[in-house]
Amino acid sequence: MSAQILDGKAIAADLREQIKARVADRVAAEQRPPGLIVVLVGDNPASQVYVRNKQNACQQVGFQSELMQLPASTGQTELLALIDQLNAREDVDGILVQLPLPKQIDEDTVTERISPIKDVDGFHPYNIGRLVLRQPLLRPCTPKGVMTMLARTGIDLTGKDAVIIGQSNIVGRPMFLELLMARCTVTVCHSKTKDLADKARKADILVAAVGVPRLIQGDWIKPGAIVIDVGMNRLENGKLCGDVDTAGAAEVAAWITPVPGGVGPMTVATLLENTLLAADLASGTEN
Ligand code: NAP
Repeated sequence: MSAQILDGKAIAADLREQIKARVADRVAAEQRPPGLIVVLVGDNPASQVYVRNKQNACQQVGFQSELMQLPASTGQTELLALIDQLNAREDVDGILVQLPLPKQIDEDTVTERISPIKDVDGFHPYNIGRLVLRQPLLRPCTPKGVMTMLARTGIDLTGKDAVIIGQSNIVGRPMFLELLMARCTVTVCHSKTKDLADKARKADILVAAVGVPRLIQGDWIKPGAIVIDVGMNRLENGKLCGDVDTAGAAEVAAWITPVPGGVGPMTVATLLENTLLAADLASGTEN
């Protein structure tokens, strides 16, 4: 293997330490710690794991966090009323409604109901619009976490050819906006893209956000590329694997993220970063 590992677990731990110190500064200045409310509707097992990870991370950095668990039968009106209450609460800086939601609830309506300044997932059209206009405020956590990882390579991203495989609203599209803002030349691929392997081979930076285990093979990788594997796929044997054949790609790439321990921990750490930013914005102490 020749690639260096971009260790998301370690970078996320550093980020949490920085956030913890900033929380201590807030408290020393007689401000309250940032407050995050996580709303979980129903009992999706994967969502329960994600929510638990987020709660644990909040505790580690000294945030006030609360989990509100609602039954799978919760109606949209009821959930919107809860969001209105949370929007009005002064002790709440961030509101995260864990997706997916049960089918009787429209996710877009819920996302838009969250106050944009408490939208720590960064999914509200206001926050996406700010990113489009290169005036980012609360940025979607996974792509922002990827940018933090890319910064750790020390490589100047200016003018690099970046290829993203996947165009979802939560990963692929905001990833495009982040990389474009970093002055990369960006290609976004999806399920209808022709000659996907050829496009991948041109990438100085390749971001895979597909949801297909090991779709991206070692011979799709440009020598010296940075390979970011966002995919988190649960195999039949219970193990997690990414969208990239890590062993094959690592023979060719300069940098690669592992799965698990790559982008996943960065997403959670970036949620903390966003919540701290929301709290600082609310108290007028952002820097
Ligand atoms: P998604 O909404 O299902 O989007 C998948 C994208 O991949 C779509 O744009 C789809 O194209 C494209 N695609 C599917 N099959 C393809 C193929 N064979 N060739 C090329 N493109 C293909 O998924 P997502 O929410 O973005 O998540 C993607 C992966 O990242 C999943 O494994 C998910 O679990 C993981 N994830 C990880 C984190 C993290 O923190 N690590 C966070 C979020 C998601 P079309 O648009 O044409 O359908």
